[in-house]
Amino acid sequence: MGRVVFIGAGPGAADLITLRGAQRLAQADVVLFDALTDPALRELAPRANWVHVGKRGFADSTGQATINALLVRHARASALVVRLKGGDPSVFGRLEEELQALAEAGVDCEVVPGVTAALAAAAETKRPLTRRGAGRSVALTTAMTREGALRGGHSADTEVFYMAGRQLGSLARRLCEAGWPAETPVSVVSRAGWPDALASSHTVASLGRATVLHAGRPTVVTVGAGASAVAGVSRGRTETPLLEAGQEQAETLSA
Ligand code: SAH
Repeated sequence: MGRVVFIGAGPGAADLITLRGAQRLAQADVVLFDALTDPALRELAPRANWVHVGKRGFADSTGQATINALLVRHARASALVVRLKGGDPSVFGRLEEELQALAEAGVDCEVVPGVTAALAAAAETKRPLTRRGAGRSVALTTAMTREGALRGGHSADTEVFYMAGRQLGSLARRLCEAGWPAETPVSVVSRAGWPDALASSHTVASLGRATVLHAGRPTVVTVGAGASAVAGVSRGRTETPLLEAGQEQAETLSA
């Protein structure tokens, strides 16, 4: 009987995995990986058997059951199975189900953390998630429920919404309903941590306009204190486009 190590691959570029994650990966016999992880990570475990079990958004329960069964089967046949997940395994990563399945099968596990998308987006935009005084709490929230409905909320000074990409217009409405003032800053970042990351600045009222820019890309939406630019600080990555609030307006006017 082998063991399973869950590893957070981070949000994109292979160099955002932790050193511990890279070291465990190098020892893997089998790697079960998702769609969001960088193919360059394969170079960290060139001799392992790489099995793609990727899914986007919510996998149906059959998909998850298949992954659970695969994990158990490979753990019985190999010494070290790595379950590689995008970002951090503990954040919207179905870790609960997979840990349970392995516990039921008596398989020993370890979890290696990774950089979750909310943190990668904060780094990408140089907009700290906590701020002295005004930003004392951060919530990691999913915009999607199992039924595909969207739920807004207002439970922290800064809220980061995962899996919101396709529903920015409805998210904006829900944010208003949840009591966020229309002029609250919103920062939208897609493919944070990748060389082609995109970031745009909005307000709750204008969030819907971010839809086209980030369409089809993994996107997080940061709302509230942590979404505002630090005075005098720009993103500083001239090689990729960044729309600041003024530019967003300009773009809308010229459209
Ligand atoms: N475990 C992952 C999240 C998985 S859920 C983590 O900790 O980051 C998938 C969602 O994560 C996507 O719908 C998107 O909202 C977000 N996401 C993942 N990678 C991202 C990236 N590089 N940039 C922006 N958002 C990302």
